[in-house]
Amino acid sequence: MADQADCREPPGVKTPVIDVARCEGSGECVVACPYNVFTLHRLSAGALLRLPITTTAKVLIHGARQAVVERAAECRACNACISACPTGAIDVVAATRPAN
Ligand code: SF4
Repeated sequence: MADQADCREPPGVKTPVIDVARCEGSGECVVACPYNVFTLHRLSAGALLRLPITTTAKVLIHGARQAVVERAAECRACNACISACPTGAIDVVAATRPAN
């Protein structure tokens, strides 16, 4: 887990994004994030059907387990999740704000 002193931003400025085709659901990001931003889920049949067929095949190989960004607004951009992910599936990008 990252030391919270490593965090660079106030919450809500950056957000993690997960490449579904790369995520193998190992859960390393769940362990690494000091703010509990991630959870692990199994993708539903409906969610699998919305993916490109090559991505669906990759996801099914690891039992359809995927990391999900559950609490994006809590991200402080420490990048511990990027370092922890064994498949390079996570990036941390500028958060988009809802239109007023
Ligand atoms: S950069 Fe990753 S590990 Fe750090 S707070 Fe954001 S989601 Fe959590």
